[in-house]
Amino acid sequence: MNSESCTTEKALSDLYDFFSQIHFESCRNCVDCCFQPWFLIEEKANMEAVFRNDIIEVDSVSMCNSPKCRFSSDGCCAIYKNRPLDCRLFPLDIIEYEGSYWWAVFKTCTKYSELKQYLIPGIDYIESLITKGMFAQYERQIEVTKRTYAPYRDGHYEIIREFRRP
Ligand code: SF4
Ligand code: SF4
Repeated sequence: MNSESCTTEKALSDLYDFFSQIHFESCRNCVDCCFQPWFLIEEKANMEAVFRNDIIEVDSVSMCNSPKCRFSSDGCCAIYKNRPLDCRLFPLDIIEYEGSYWWAVFKTCTKYSELKQYLIPGIDYIESLITKGMFAQYERQIEVTKRTYAPYRDGHYEIIREFRRP
């Protein structure tokens, strides 16, 4: 394992810890955002263990192969403690707009006004953990998401501030 992937794995662990401490009461009994999560390379082994054959690669981005994640059932995530970073961040995300990268909150989350109050104060910390290797994967994922996620194409998000690249 090279030092960059080692650093990214540590950052990912810290990000998981951070999100495990934020309790989104609003997300109880809601899986409205559970479409097609994507996975970082550093998450792939764990995700293969749970998603098994339900993973596809699109332009070198690993993601759930179904438009509706199969772990979404009865209003809950069946793998909540193992869900990928993409799911932990939502409705917060990094987007590309007019050639720059931005932190944004997707309005497709019905509770986005409430959740952004928890997420915005964490942006500086989350950003400090995003390594070059992780962001390179974000750049690829953003290109795929722009094509595949209609709320992105339709601008159904609120821009918070510019993303500071690592
Ligand atoms: S992030 Fe929003 S859409 Fe997703 S589960 Fe929570 S409240 Fe529902
Ligand atoms: S892993 Fe869980 S939180 Fe993520 S999309 Fe699937 S059901 Fe939703």
